[in-house]
Amino acid sequence: MPKINKYIPIVGKETIDGLFLLAEKLKGKSILHVNSTAVGGGVAEILTRMIPLLKQLNVDTKWEVIKGNERFFKITKDFHNALHGVPVNLTDDDFEFFVSVNRDNMKDFDFNHDIFLIHDPQPVVLIEKKKEIGKHWAWRCHIDFTEPQDVVMNFLNTYINQYEAAVFSAPAFARKFDVPQFLIAPSIDPLADKNKELPEEKIKKIVEKFGIDTSRKIVTQISRFDYLKDPLGVIDAYKAVKKYVDCQLVLAGGGATDDPEGMEVLAKVKAASENDKDIFVLFLPPSSDIEINALQRASTVVMQKSLKEGFGLTVAEALWKGKPVIAGAVGGIPLQIKHQYSGILSYSIEGTAFYLKQLLSEPDYAKALGVNGRSHIKDNFLITRHLRDYLMLFISLMDNREIIPC
Ligand code: UDP
Repeated sequence: MPKINKYIPIVGKETIDGLFLLAEKLKGKSILHVNSTAVGGGVAEILTRMIPLLKQLNVDTKWEVIKGNERFFKITKDFHNALHGVPVNLTDDDFEFFVSVNRDNMKDFDFNHDIFLIHDPQPVVLIEKKKEIGKHWAWRCHIDFTEPQDVVMNFLNTYINQYEAAVFSAPAFARKFDVPQFLIAPSIDPLADKNKELPEEKIKKIVEKFGIDTSRKIVTQISRFDYLKDPLGVIDAYKAVKKYVDCQLVLAGGGATDDPEGMEVLAKVKAASENDKDIFVLFLPPSSDIEINALQRASTVVMQKSLKEGFGLTVAEALWKGKPVIAGAVGGIPLQIKHQYSGILSYSIEGTAFYLKQLLSEPDYAKALGVNGRSHIKDNFLITRHLRDYLMLFISLMDNREIIPC
């Protein structure tokens, strides 16, 4: 992990000094983050960078991962899908099981902290502990909440409303809760292996290792294999364009320990790309950060054709690398992309194919989108801004002041 001063050339000394000033106010306080996976997906990605940086700011910070079995993660994946608007079949027994796994975890965790930031629905029930120990609790939601199924939303509301604050990634997710709501967008770390500068030679070597031809155009989507990331829609759009413009398609992703659906989606993606040697379906192990960085940097166009998306870190990652991005106009993605200025927002396979053909054929236009995108990410979605927002959240919780959404 780089020293925090290494961020000065990117964000300026005032920004880093400001973080130390805020962190000073949390002296003697300790913070616990809880989520449901240590690897895979955006939440783990952010926490992996955030926790060491908070420690460097002298904020006593710990991270715990809730434990569950196959049934628990099947239920929480159903929750996830239901919150994204997908109808699911959950029984009373499933809800009870979900609560009981959370209660089992309560027995194992060390609750000797001052502030608890609980990420996403999986560990939401930990708030029950507040009745016993008090302290300060906020619930941090990373997912697209625009059209949740009532059965899951109503169940979760009973827990969310016991927190002191709920934190969302985008204004579109604000809902009626009994608790104050914060708006804190996620971020990427420009110095992480995933995002740091790479020499051209290294990029070429890594990408060619996968059999991809770096002298031809490359279209890439990096994502967990999840229906909501629409990898099959990406294949359809690519096939429509391929008739007119020569290109290769890379669909690269791994699994997450809290996502049991990945293998099923991967099998479908493989079946749909079977007869095309220009489609590369790469199942990446965890810690493929340099590979992902190189794939993004080698791409002519980056796709993120999500049907639902909390934020879409992959969009920020690609824009930071100055890449033209075509992404679904859903969830937190429009925070990152202003259509035809810092990228392309798409609504359908046909629209995606139309813009893909355009960007592959008009490199100057594609480049301009990437330049604007990088500047937007620099101003709004780097980890230093995220650290500041979290520090302010923690300070507000400690002061027990009225929380004013920013
Ligand atoms: N990612 C990864 N390996 C993979 C697929 C994705 O490291 O095989 C990373 C990706 O680069 C990004 C994060 O996981 O940093 C995914 O975050 P995002 O917000 O795009 O989606 P989520 O998976 O959280 O829905």
